[in-house]
Amino acid sequence: MNSILSAINVHKTYQNGPEITEVLRGIDLDVKQGEVVIIIGPSGVGKSTLLHLIGSLDKPTTGEIHINGQNVFELNDKQLAGFRNKNIGFVFQFHHLLPEFTALENVMLPGMMYSNDLNQLNVDASALLAEVGLDNRLNHKPNQLSGGERQRVAVARALINNPKLVLADEPTGNLDKNNSKALYRQILNLNEKLNQTFIIVTHNEIMAERASRVIELEDGQVKAIKNNR
Ligand code: ADP
Repeated sequence: MNSILSAINVHKTYQNGPEITEVLRGIDLDVKQGEVVIIIGPSGVGKSTLLHLIGSLDKPTTGEIHINGQNVFELNDKQLAGFRNKNIGFVFQFHHLLPEFTALENVMLPGMMYSNDLNQLNVDASALLAEVGLDNRLNHKPNQLSGGERQRVAVARALINNPKLVLADEPTGNLDKNNSKALYRQILNLNEKLNQTFIIVTHNEIMAERASRVIELEDGQVKAIKNNR
């Protein structure tokens, strides 16, 4: 099976004046196409830091990140920005939808960087919104959607360019239990139907049971790996 992500001996150290914080101390991780991997660990352990490095939003102090076979930090900044837009979808705790655009337009927007075919984008975005159960909300603006619906739009948006990898950092951090459950069901459905690969920072119990793997971080290293499938 294709390796979508390969993190090799990743270290991240922050230095503020004389104070040195060693956050990640040698992380190795290999994720294959179609896996759903969740990352858990106590607050401050470095989960978001690791996700940012995997998403090439920040550089490791040492170590390598390969996405779909590409050593991402060998690319220059411009190449990297293009590579990231095409290959990685992001879902954050806050939806970051544009308020003046409809759900459909918000999902179409990242696709416009790569395609002028608005009809096709409309079809693709509508299909993704239908996959997350929002076929009857296409023309609603973010303030006309519930919190759970907004996050589902954000998930659909992350998928519009058919990325190799979707990264989500506590995507249900602002949702209640039922909406969290619904969002994770949609994510598992997208994984099953599209063989989409996800890496998600979450403590959600459904995901702990249903994810392919649970990676637990402690003291800057991988403490335990639980394989479910
Ligand atoms: P988690 O997502 O597991 O809660 P984070 O990855 O956000 O943890 O943070 C890990 C550690 O790195 C924390 O102790 C945090 O204070 C520290 N940290 C994060 N960013 C910086 C920074 N820019 N400078 C110094 N320390 C940082």
